[in-house]
Amino acid sequence: MIESTKIKELKGIGEKTEKLFHKIGVDTVGDLIRYYPRGYDVYEEAVPISEAAEGRVVTVTGAVYGRIQVGGSPRMQVTTLHVKDITGTLRVIWFRMPFLRTTLSGGGVITLRGRIVRKKDALVMEHPEIFYPPEKYEEKLHTLQPVYGLTAGLTNNAVVKAVRQAFDNLNLSRETLPEEIRLRYGLAEYNYALRGIHFPEDKEVFCHARNRLVFEEFLEFILALRKLKSGSEKLCNEYVMEPRPEVERFVAELPFALTGAQEKVWREISDDLASDTVMSRLVQGDVGSGKTIVAVLALMTAALNGYQGAMMAPTEVLARQHYESITKLFEEHGIAVKTVLLTGSMTAKEKRKAYDRIECGLAKIIVGTHALIQGAVNYDNLGLVITDEQHRFGVRQRETFAEKGGAPHVLVMSATPIPRTLAIILYGDLDISVIDELPANRLPIKNCVVDTGYRKTAYAFMKKQIAEGRQCYVICPMVEESESLEAENVTDYAASLQEELGGEIAVDFLHGKMRQKEKDAIMDRFSRRESQVLVSTTVIEVGIDVPNAAVMLIENAERFGLAQLHQLRGRVGRGKHQSYCIFMSGSKAKETRERLEILNKTNDGFKIASEDLKLRGPGDLFGIRQSGLMNFKIADVYQDAKILKQANEAADWLIENNHEWLKKLPKYEEPSSVII
Ligand code: ADP
Ligand code: MG
Repeated sequence: MIESTKIKELKGIGEKTEKLFHKIGVDTVGDLIRYYPRGYDVYEEAVPISEAAEGRVVTVTGAVYGRIQVGGSPRMQVTTLHVKDITGTLRVIWFRMPFLRTTLSGGGVITLRGRIVRKKDALVMEHPEIFYPPEKYEEKLHTLQPVYGLTAGLTNNAVVKAVRQAFDNLNLSRETLPEEIRLRYGLAEYNYALRGIHFPEDKEVFCHARNRLVFEEFLEFILALRKLKSGSEKLCNEYVMEPRPEVERFVAELPFALTGAQEKVWREISDDLASDTVMSRLVQGDVGSGKTIVAVLALMTAALNGYQGAMMAPTEVLARQHYESITKLFEEHGIAVKTVLLTGSMTAKEKRKAYDRIECGLAKIIVGTHALIQGAVNYDNLGLVITDEQHRFGVRQRETFAEKGGAPHVLVMSATPIPRTLAIILYGDLDISVIDELPANRLPIKNCVVDTGYRKTAYAFMKKQIAEGRQCYVICPMVEESESLEAENVTDYAASLQEELGGEIAVDFLHGKMRQKEKDAIMDRFSRRESQVLVSTTVIEVGIDVPNAAVMLIENAERFGLAQLHQLRGRVGRGKHQSYCIFMSGSKAKETRERLEILNKTNDGFKIASEDLKLRGPGDLFGIRQSGLMNFKIADVYQDAKILKQANEAADWLIENNHEWLKKLPKYEEPSSVII
C-alpha cells in the first residue's frame, strides 16, 4: 500500500463510506494519515457523583439503582437509568438504544462516561459510553483517544479503524526533513510523529509528535513566504499617489477625531503611496481600533489620483458591510467616487454589471470577497489592493490579488495582535504599522465570570438591555462530536431562549451548517436591528461591526482558548454604549475561574494567550480550539511561538547553505480556510 492508494482498498470502506471520507477531504491513504485528530479524549479517573459538573464529560462509577425504563417517542426512544454512589444519585439517559434494558438488566456496579447536561432543574448524564463491568474502564484509563472532525454518517470509530489499518499496511519509511535540522532541533522522526499524533500513548508522546509536525508546517510556510518576498523586493512605484485635499477635508468633517495611532498609521501609508517604491504594509490593530477608516482614506487617495483601489474581505457579510459604510460616508460628505460591490453570491447579471464598470474604469473603489481575484475580473488601472482581516487569508491568495494589477500597492489589515518578532517572520515581506490605541469614546467592556446558576439572572439582564434598545449575542456551547450535532444544539438553545425571553423579542441563530445566503440574511437582520438576540456558534464572523450590540453571553466559556474568547468579546464594545461580556462557566473549579479571570485583567490578545499558556502548560492545551490565526493545519502562532522562531532560523540556514533539500521541497499547499 502506498500513500496514493485509494481508501476504498482498506477493509470496511465501501462506496458509501468512501463518499463520506471524500466530504472531509480524504481520498487516499496519504490524505487519511494526514487527517489529524481535532482533539483527544482523555479517560480520566472516575469522580464522585456529587462532583459531576454541568457541561463536562466525566466518568462515574456506581450501582444501578431502581428500574431501567424505556420511554420517549417511537422515533426517539429514551432509555433511563439511575446510578448511585455514596455521594449521590445521577439520572442517565440514552437515545435510540432500547436494547440496553436487557443488556443492563443484571444491575450491579457500572462505570459510565458522558457529558453532564442540565434538564429542567436536574443534572443528567447524556448518552454515555458504558463500561460494564467497571474493570473494562481500567484498560482505557489515562489513555488519549483521537477525536476526528466528522460529517453526518461517519463515526469517529470508523475513522479510527481506517487510520489504524492505514498504519498497519503502509510502508512509511520516508523522512521529509533534512537530518541536520531534525537532529539540531530534537525533532521526532516523521513516522513516529504521524503515529504519535493519531495514537499518542501519553501526553509526552503527543507533544513530541506534535512539535515535529508544527515545525514542518511552519518551515514550509516560511520558505513559501521567502520565495514570494524574493520576487517582490523594492519594486519601483508605478502608481504615485499624492496626498489630496479632499481627503483632508473629509477627515476634518468626520464626526470623530482620528486617534493619535490612526493618524500616525495614516501618515505612514500616505508617505508610502507617494514614495519611489511600492507599498507592502501590514496594519495591525486590535478589534475596534478603527482600521476601516484608515483603509477608506487610502482607497480615496487612490481614486482621487485616478487609480482603482480594491478591498477584499474574508466573508460576504463583511464585504457588504464595508461597501455600505463606504457609500454612506461618501454620500454624507459629497465625495464623488464610484464604488462597487463584487461578491460570489451576486447574480450573474449583477456580476456582469460590476465587471463592466470595473473594466471600463468607471468604478474607482471595488469592495468584495474572493470574487475580486477570480479570472473574470479585469481591472482598468488597479493601483492599490487592501485585504481586511488578513489572518484569514493565505499567502497564495494575497499573491493572486497583487497579480491582478501591474505592481499595485498592498495593504493588509489584521486584528490579531502578535509581537513584532513574530509578525516579522509571519509577514516577512511587509512593513508593519500598529494602531495601538482605541477611540477615546469607548467605555471599557465590563466582564464577569459566573457559573450556570447565574443563567436566569443573565437572561433577565439581557432583557433589560434589550428594553433599553441594545442587542445581544449568545455563544452556544460547542459540541465536539460533529457539526450537525452542533447545529442541532444551537437550534434548540435558540428555541428555549426564545421561550424564556418572550414573543416581543426576536431571537435568531447562526451555525456553520447554514448556507452563505442564510447566514447573510441572519446577519443582515441583526445589523438592521430586526432581531435583538443572535445565538451562534463561533462562526460569528470576524470584523462584524454592530455597535448597538452591547451584551455577549458565552456559554461553556471554560471550553474555549482565551485568545479565542478575546476575539469573540471584540464583537461588543464597539459603540458608545456600555458593553458587557458574561463568561459562563460550566465548571466550578478554581483553576477555571482563575484562567477566565485573566480576561478581566487585560485586553492585549497576545498577553492573554501567553498567560493562558503559563497557567496550563503546553500539554494541557489539546482539545482547546486554538487562535485560528492564518489557517495553519496544526500549528498555532500563539502556542508555538518558540517553534516558529526555530523554523525561521532553520529556513535561514537552509537558504544560506543552498541546501539540496530545498530543490525537493514540495509545492506549498495552503490548508483550506477553517472557521475559528
Ligand atoms: P476594526 O479595527 O475592528 O476594523 P472598525 O474600523 O470597524 O474597527 O471601527 C469600529 C468602530 O469605531 C466603527 O463603528 C467606526 O466608525 C468607529 N471609529 C473608528 N475610528 C474612530 C475614532 N477615531 N473615534 C471614534 N470612533 C471611531
Ligand atoms: Mg475591521
